[in-house]
Amino acid sequence: ATPTAVMVGTGVGATQGVLIKGGQALESAHKVNCIVFDKTGTLTVGKPLVVTTKIFNNMSVKDFYEFVVAAEVNSEHPIAKAIVEHAKNNTQDEQNHSWPEAKEFVSVAGHGVKALVQNKQIMVGNKKLMLDHNIVISVEAEEILAEAESMAQTGILVSLDGEVVGVLAVSDPLKPDAKEVISILKSMKIRSIMVTGDNWGTANSIARQAGIETVMAEAQPETKATKVKELQSCGYTVAMVGDGINDSPALVAADVGMAIGAGTDIAIEAADIVLMKSNLEDIITAIDLAKKTFSRIR
Ligand code: ADP
Ligand code: MG
Repeated sequence: ATPTAVMVGTGVGATQGVLIKGGQALESAHKVNCIVFDKTGTLTVGKPLVVTTKIFNNMSVKDFYEFVVAAEVNSEHPIAKAIVEHAKNNTQDEQNHSWPEAKEFVSVAGHGVKALVQNKQIMVGNKKLMLDHNIVISVEAEEILAEAESMAQTGILVSLDGEVVGVLAVSDPLKPDAKEVISILKSMKIRSIMVTGDNWGTANSIARQAGIETVMAEAQPETKATKVKELQSCGYTVAMVGDGINDSPALVAADVGMAIGAGTDIAIEAADIVLMKSNLEDIITAIDLAKKTFSRIR
């Protein structure tokens, strides 16, 4: 392609909300035959909602959420925001209620949060977080988790002083265009893979809904990048689509990194292409544009 063609290509992209950072991004995009998708905020809407609250001891919902919110209000994670929002809407009688203070707050990346609230050690997170702290997960809690996961929801455990006292389930539905985009990519002979930090049960349910056959769950940020490199060494030209801080190593490793516009600044900086409308359809817009620019027979 001539420099003029590349300029026209990136210009057309910009008018359609597809920000292409240079000719190299466009050139790589026309050869893409494998796309690695992050789950939360990329394939899903990314605004989870609390749909279930189960409390095992005799605590009131209000007291339970006082502890949970005191810890989660310190976290930037979308699940934390969902929990705080839910508690505000469901347990507050007065407007300017303040939560108890959390001490020794720790955010455990990919697992959850822990803190000291009213002299009790609270943990909110996944099974891994509990198991790493030798906390026993009851059969009852396991059953609620499994049920949530089968419905593509994420189950979150809450422990106080080493005992699981409750389970929450959050629902984060698939973006409306996800299924169609995956099917169009398939018809373009482009393979789709999902890589997520979430658990296997939820990951498999979401992948099934989207029509994605290959899934990798419980992945650390470095694992996402390793997966991209592995696919490249198999001969694939790989695009990575993501929105989170934890996607940035993979966005950099990929032949083409595509960031969701509504994502974190770090992901947007790491990417070669930014999907300003935050939809998935524009992945196809970008690839089509690249193909038109680079595959034209002159
Ligand atoms: P993803 O790759 O889907 O964006 P993350 O790696 O950020 O997921 O997190 C993986 C899992 O860790 C979440 O699905 C959740 O179970 C748990 N988790 C992470 N942060 C929190 C939090 N602040 N509160 C509760 N659970 C959390
Ligand atoms: Mg994400």
